[in-house]
Order: sequence, then C-alpha cells, then structure tokens
Amino acid sequence: MTGPSPRPEILAIHPYVAGESTIEGANRTVKLSSNEGAFGVPPGAQEAVRAALADVFRYPDGTAIELRRALGKRWGLDPARIVCGAGSDDLIYQFCLAYGGPGRDIVMSAHGFAIYQVAGTYAGSRVIKVPERDLCIDLDAMLAAVSASTRLVFVANPNNPTGSMVGKDALAQFRAKLPAHVLLVLDSAYAEYVTREDYEPGIELVDATDNTVMTRTFSKVFGLGGMRVGWCYAPPAVVDVLNRTRGPFNVSVAAQAAAIAALEEPGWVEKGRAHNTEYRRIMTEGLRAAGIEVWPSEGNFVLADFGTTEKADAADAFLRGRGIIVRKVGVYGLPHCLRITVGTPEETAALIDGLTGFARHG
Ligand SMILES: *Cc1c(COP(=O)(O)O)cnc(C)c1O
Repeated sequence: MTGPSPRPEILAIHPYVAGESTIEGANRTVKLSSNEGAFGVPPGAQEAVRAALADVFRYPDGTAIELRRALGKRWGLDPARIVCGAGSDDLIYQFCLAYGGPGRDIVMSAHGFAIYQVAGTYAGSRVIKVPERDLCIDLDAMLAAVSASTRLVFVANPNNPTGSMVGKDALAQFRAKLPAHVLLVLDSAYAEYVTREDYEPGIELVDATDNTVMTRTFSKVFGLGGMRVGWCYAPPAVVDVLNRTRGPFNVSVAAQAAAIAALEEPGWVEKGRAHNTEYRRIMTEGLRAAGIEVWPSEGNFVLADFGTTEKADAADAFLRGRGIIVRKVGVYGLPHCLRITVGTPEETAALIDGLTGFARHG
C-alpha cells in the first residue's frame, strides 16, 4: 500500500518563494522585495478595517456588490462585469482551473509572472514559455506558440519582474490575430503607475472583444497586499464561469471594507504615481551612475542587471549586510539580475548608497 498521492504534475510545481521581509540580526530592515506601495496602508482603509471588526462574525457578502459598485464608479464600468478575488492570484487560479486543464495549453512569456506557471501546472495544463526580446514580450513569437490546444494566454502589462510594457495598438493587433477560442488575460497589476501615453490597461480591449479579461489588484499602489483583494473586468460569459468556480466568500469582510475605503482615499493614487515616477527615475539614474545597468520599467520597481549570477548574488549579500532586502529573480530565469521596489525617499537613498558602495568595493 502506498499513501495518498497528488496528480504527478503537482510535484513539478516549485513552491512560490515570496520576497523576504526580515534579515536575522538586523535591527532595521528596508524591504524592497515585494513591490508593495511606498506609502503603506491608506489611513481611511485602516479606519475602515477597525470599524469592520465588529462585523467579522458574519460571513462577507459573497457577491462583493458594494466593492464592485465602487470599482465600477471609479473606472466607469458595469459592476455586473466585475468579479473580485482574494488577490488577483485567486482569479488567475480560477482562469487556469476553469479554462485550462489536461490537453489545454497555456502560453506565457519567458520572464512572465511566476504564478501563471504554478496555477497552470496545477490545472493540469502544459505551460509554454515564449522567449522574449531584450526582456520585452515578443508578441509574434507568442502568436507562433499558440495552437489549437491553447486556451489561455497571459500577458502581464507592465510585466513583473522585467518592467517592460506593451503598447495599446500592438496589444489590440495581437488580440485580433489570436484565435477566438483563446482567452487573453491582461494582468494589469501595475496599471496605476504607468504614465506612458500609449498604455491601455485592458478596459477598451475587454469591451471590444468577448474573449479578453483584465485583472487588477489592491496589493500595489493601494497598499493592501496583506488584505488580499483583486478584481477582474470580463465578458459576461467569463463572469458567469468565475461565479461558479470561485470560493463563495473569497474576499473577507475586512478586505472588502479596506478596498472600498482605499478607493475613496483622496489623492492616494496620484500621490503614489507621482512619487513612483520621480523616485524610479532617481533610482535608475543613481544605479546607472554607479555603473549598474538598469532595464527601463513602467512599474514600481526596477530590474538591475549585474551581468553575472555571481555579481548579482554578491550585490544581494552586500545589501543584506546593510539591512536592505531586494528580490532575487533566478526563478524568473534572470539570475544575473535583482528586482528592486521603489520605496520612500529614505529607502531609495539607502539603496543607491548601498549599491554604489558595492560597485566601488564589492
Ligand atoms: C503583484 C502582482 C500581482 C498581484 O497579486 P495579488 O494576488 O493581487 O496580490 C499580480 N500580477 C502581477 C504581475 C504582480 O506583479
């Protein structure tokens, strides 16, 4: 007799390794490893969570109607076309489990967000990773990888960890060339940070087609990563599928309250975006001045390129010695790089100072 065993492909999944948050022995750490917003939790959201505490003996509203109305109001969307999740990861799992499965391939780019591979493999799909060009998604190569077996294509825009972005027209042309049976998932986790004119987070493409969805999150600019709230905007048929498969109470009472309040926080997104644009530039220029290559980024992070794995590892160790935690990205096929979140002015200064010291003596 043997013990219980999962489907064989489950054991091919590498457990997701999150950005670390503490360094043993350090009394003060600067955490720039998980792309959390630079300004913490919106004050109104903190207040809303405190107020919601008295209600947590009740199950949450499983339809999250108030939150969907607030999202609809904010972006001019029909709340009936929105589904909320316990983070956008929750929704990514639902897409993979509902539309993927054995014999149903999933296509993603080589350095795309790691959860697509985890969730796709879990669903029983073959996950095809398509090589990129200069760390930018290669849409022609993605199209070439799509076959009659493909059911899902994931595009993170901007992408984590590369920071690269696909323009609006290229994305619309890509969608038009994809077969109708392929669901295109546009993961716009960093949408609020993008300032480029040719960016479209996916709302227009979802409206223009019946086989495109856009996912968004409260984990980045809205400062609620620990609450686990995300949402998607989707065609009615996809909304119907998600409402059958998702956990019936997937977004908690506190998370719903926090998200609604975060949307109402005056000037929060504008402040986060303006800070990010300025300090991403300061960090990029600071590192380049120290002789470190930095890839262009539209997100709230940059990808620093050290050329070799040894150098990237040494830089990581050097920063840790100074209490600064960044993200190694070997699991993304980029062992010679480090991903660094745009933090506060003080954190940014400490990071530039640290890596300048490393470049000089390290
Ligand atoms: C951070 C991130 C998410 C957000 O995940 P949540 O589950 O909403 O916290 C989704 N996609 C990408 C590409 C990300 O970087």
